[in-house]
Parts: sequence; structure tokens; C-alpha cells
Amino acid sequence: MNHKHFKNARWGVFLLAALLLALCFALSGCDYEDLYPTHEHNFEFLTNVYGEAVYEDGVITDVKRVPCGQWRDKFEGYVCSICGKQLYKPAGSGGTQPCETTGRYKVTTEPTCTKAGVDTATCFYCHKVYTKSVPALGHDYKNVAAKAPTCTEPGNTAGRKCRRCGHLHSGEELPALGHIWSEPTYSWSADLSACTASRVCARGHVDDGQHL
Ligand SMILES: [Zn+2]
Ligand SMILES: [Zn+2]
Ligand SMILES: [Zn+2]
Ligand SMILES: [Zn+2]
Repeated sequence: MNHKHFKNARWGVFLLAALLLALCFALSGCDYEDLYPTHEHNFEFLTNVYGEAVYEDGVITDVKRVPCGQWRDKFEGYVCSICGKQLYKPAGSGGTQPCETTGRYKVTTEPTCTKAGVDTATCFYCHKVYTKSVPALGHDYKNVAAKAPTCTEPGNTAGRKCRRCGHLHSGEELPALGHIWSEPTYSWSADLSACTASRVCARGHVDDGQHL
């Protein structure tokens, strides 16, 4: 091989490489780094991913979620700490695809002191509805001072009472006393067309305007 032929052969190799590279980009958008690596990839484990492999040229380039309830595969996801290239390694069965309800639970029945409440979520993907019980709150007791009952308002002895529902932990309710009425006194209007009964409670209340 003379000098000229050698030069042509070098050009031929260069053109072939350029052509292959162009073809490669055009057909699959493949990585320049794959053809002319500038470094040895340093793949580090990132996370497990679950779903169905997406292949490009026999290489897993992505893992797609499968519909809720379907069988899926497990993959170990790696990433190159130098260039960020991702790599997936099949790692057996991933069981069935669960619904996505993370962060989607909302209170639909408020819990009370003594009764459990309900939180409800709908799956982001298939809209299946999930409920979960929320424990009862339990009473929230505070100390209460004694309060004397009046004619119309109940009172209580000193004790402990729930802030939310009024349940008594200790102490007791004292029922309203009711009025102690005097005998009614009757008074006629000036034209004698109406008679009004009025009575007075021993504890000071006045009840008038009972038109008879
Ligand atoms: Zn790399
Ligand atoms: Zn679902
Ligand atoms: Zn309570
Ligand atoms: Zn009274």
C-alpha cells in the first residue's frame, strides 16, 4: 500500500464513522457517549422502579407504570454519577400495581370524642374509592368551677368536663330550678275588654302579659 492509498483508506474510515454516527442519531437518537465514551460510567443504585420495561435497541430506556391491579416487573434503577445516564436492571416480579392514593385522603366524616371518623381517597389513576377509619378523639377534659342553677339555666358542681361534647368526667349537672310563682293577680284594661294575669317569682322574675 503506497502513501496515497493509505491516506484514502483513512478518509474512508472517517467518512464511514461519520455516516454511522449520523445514522445512529437519525434512527434512534442514540447517545454520543455510547459511541465515543469519554469516561467509564459510574453507575450507582438510585431506587427500585416497578412497571413494564420500555426497550430501545434491546436496552431498557424507561419503565412505564402498568394499570392498577395488573402484574408488573421490578427493576433496579441506577444512574451514572458522572453523566447522569440511567440504567435499569430487571429484578424479578414486582407484584400487582397498587392504586395511587398517597396524599389524597380527605376527611369525609369528622371523628367525635367517642366515635371514629372516616377518611376517603380516590385513586389518581382508576378512581377507585378507598376509606380508612380515623380513631375517635377521646374527651378533652377541663376543670369547671361550681355554678349554681337558676330558675331557667342548669348549673353544676365543681368537676371536670369535656370542652367538645360536655361529657362530665367528675362533678354533676344541677338541673334548672324552675320558677316559684306567686298566685296570679288579674288586672282589667281601662275599657274592661281584656284581662291580664301577672305573677311574680320568689327569685325575682316577673311574668306579665298573659292575656286571658
Ligand atoms: Zn456516565
Ligand atoms: Zn387505581
Ligand atoms: Zn367529649
Ligand atoms: Zn324565677
